[in-house]
Order: sequence, then structure tokens, then C-alpha cells
Amino acid sequence: YDAIIIGAGINGCCSAYFLHRAGLRVALVDEAGIASGGSGAAGAFISPKISKAGELKEIMGEAHAEALAFYTANFPEFTLTKPLLHIANSPQEGGKVTAFKRESTLEQTAMSEGLRSLLSDEALQCESIYFSHGAVVDAQGVCCALSNGVDFFCFKAENITHQNSTWHVGELRAKHLILSIGAYPKLLPIDYVGLRGIWGHRIDIQTSTAIPSILHHHVSISPTTKEGIVAIGATHDVHYSPFSGEPYEREEGRKILLKKASKTLKLNNINIMKDYMGLRSGSNDYLPMLGRLVESDATLQKYPHMRHGEAIDPSEYIYYPNLTMINGSGGYGFVLAPYLAKRLKEYIVDGVSIDPILSPSRFFPRWAKRKKNQS
Ligand SMILES: Cc1cc2nc3c(=O)[nH]c(=O)nc-3n(C[C@H](O)[C@H](O)[C@H](O)COP(=O)(O)OP(=O)(O)OC[C@H]3O[C@@H](n4cnc5c(N)ncnc54)[C@H](O)[C@@H]3O)c2cc1C
Repeated sequence: YDAIIIGAGINGCCSAYFLHRAGLRVALVDEAGIASGGSGAAGAFISPKISKAGELKEIMGEAHAEALAFYTANFPEFTLTKPLLHIANSPQEGGKVTAFKRESTLEQTAMSEGLRSLLSDEALQCESIYFSHGAVVDAQGVCCALSNGVDFFCFKAENITHQNSTWHVGELRAKHLILSIGAYPKLLPIDYVGLRGIWGHRIDIQTSTAIPSILHHHVSISPTTKEGIVAIGATHDVHYSPFSGEPYEREEGRKILLKKASKTLKLNNINIMKDYMGLRSGSNDYLPMLGRLVESDATLQKYPHMRHGEAIDPSEYIYYPNLTMINGSGGYGFVLAPYLAKRLKEYIVDGVSIDPILSPSRFFPRWAKRKKNQS
């Protein structure tokens, strides 16, 4: 193969899609099947991030526009497009919504009377913004469609090695290796990569209340699909980890979700159909990650004074050859994946450099300095 991708979540599948279309022979590996990690759990709303001005806002704005166009043009059968109402969930968020409303170039419109009549008094009193266009994708469907035509291998990648300019993953061989493993154990000694898993639970319900728009408030609520399903979610739990061996309190999660949804509107005749749970993989600085990975031991050997805070230009670090990570999208993996994967393809195939702000190695200097006391 030209490239092996480990992890068949939305990041791995989107990367496979762009690389395969560019003519590369791609092998996609996942220990549990396509969209079985965080991606399989996602409500997969393609919604703008309501954030203050800055780098994150710019990246998210661009990624959101690219994602809306990408899914609606290429995967309309897995994309439900509806208007989107974002209601502030606190006075502090109200300030952000007001500023976003003023500055956003996204098309806004007035809420219909039908939608207004469904909302609770609390929801009506909060600051809100109503966009003409939002989308929700079918997470499983879109991941499978993206990986169509790509060779898929179901096994757990372990002990990956690089020999004679070739990456070895089980029986597979390739020049390029892409790690899109979400919040799972890291596979290489790259402890400096600042990632944490954030557990989420969402549910699909049937309800006699017909919901015409995407709603984000204390929790996200999907419009009613043509199958009569409404998705509610997700929770954000930084304390629970499926790797801890502790059981997850599913009933408690359901209660939290329904309680939060009830603050937005009254849902009648609820029947819970299915639970989805998984880990989001969030970066410590909230920016996503795309780029090369530093070989920490070799770099510290070359620049031992990094342990004492010596600043070294990142171009001088020693990197694993032809290895790229795509990760750290937090709760916006479906929004960010087309943006990141397109740039991954441009980097690998066309030699276009990646914005250093996205580099997973950005966390390396601080980590190296903390190693001082351990050396
Ligand atoms: C409940 C919930 C709701 C969400 N809602 C939204 C939303 O509405 N909108 C949005 O944009 N985002 C949402 N997200 C976030 C989004 O799902 C994530 O950002 C996204 O799934 C990250 O994708 P990924 O491909 O990086 O990781 P994952 O989907 O976690 O994929 C990683 C894959 O790697 C595989 N893997 C790991 N290690 C190995 C190994 N050693 N060998 C083989 N395979 C391996 C795993 O099996 C897994 O399938 C939500 C997440 C959750 C949990």
C-alpha cells in the first residue's frame, strides 16, 4: 500500500476517501469495524461552534463551511439538512451568541411560529441565533460510504515498526502511516500529545412531538427523521473512562439527557429506542491536530537543553518518517474531518505544508521541560 490508516472513525474514513480519490492505494485498519469508536456514537450535527474571535473560531468557521458543502454535495443520502436554532445555555454563553450573531456571515432567519410554539419559556427567554442551514449526518452511513473502495482490515494494530523506509502494521506494509485512533491508547511513545477522552452518551427516541429544526441548548436535539426518530445528546463526562473497567450508569445518563432536553421543549410520549456511547478525543488547547509526530527520545538526545526550556525551532526536531496524526477534534469530529483530511491529502500527495498551529508536536516543548525533574 501507499498508506495505512489506523482507526476507521470519521477522521480515518475521511482521510481514506481523499487519499483513495487522489490515486493512492490505501489500507484502512480498525480493531472493531468502521465507525465503532467515538464516531459511531456521534449525533453528527454539522453545527457552527459559537466561540469568541481567535484562531479556533477561524478554523472552525472554515471547517464548518467546508463540511456543510462536502456532506450535502457528496453524501446527500446520509445528510439531513434543516434550519438550526442555537439557544444560549447560560448568561455567559448569551454574550457569545450575541457577538456571533452580529459578526457571523452565515445566513440567519426569523424563527417560525410553529417552532416558537414548541419551545419552553426558559428557551424563549434566552439569547438565541437561528441559522437557515444546518445539517445532521448519519454517522455510520457516511463513514461506510467514505471508505467505499478502500481495503479494510479488522484487527488491533500493535507493535508497529518502521524498517527500510516502510511502515509495518501486522502483515501490512506502506510508505505512509496515518494515525487516526481517537482517544485510544497511543501506539507509540508520544506522551507529549495533549489529548484526553471525554465520554459521551446520546439516545435515539420516538416521540409524538414533531421537531422541525436542529436545536442546541443544554443538549442537542435533532429534527424528526423520516423514520420518526429524534436524537438527543450528548452528555460530557470527563470522569468516566471505558478503559477503567468501571461499569457505566446508563440509566443515569438517560435521565440526564431527557432532563436537559425538557428545558428546551416538552417531548410527548417518549420511547427510548437506542443508546450510543463513546469517547470524544479532545486536545488540551481545543485546537484539532494534524501533522507529524516528534520522536521524543531522539529529539531530547539531540537537544538535551530542551529539558531546561531551551527553545528549538520545530523544524529541527526529529520526526517519525512519513507518519501523520489526525485527531483532537473533541465534540466537532464530523465538522472538522473533511477540512483536516483534505489538508492531509494536500500534504501527502501535493507536498503542501500543514498549518503549524495544527501540529500535534506543538505540545512537545512544554512536555520536554516537565521531563527535567524525571531525568
Ligand atoms: C456521544 C457523542 C456525540 C458526538 N456528537 C458529535 C456531533 O454532533 N458533531 C460532531 O462533529 N462530532 C460529534 N462528536 C465527536 C466526534 O464523534 C469525534 O470527534 C469523532 O468521532 C472523532 O473521530 P476519530 O476518527 O478521531 O476517532 P474515533 O471515532 O474514536 O475512531 C478511532 C478508531 O480507532 C480505532 N483504533 C484505536 N486504536 C486502534 C488500534 N490499535 N488498532 C486498530 N484500531 C484502533 C478504534 O476502534 C476506533 O474505531 C460526538 C462524540 C460522541 C462520543
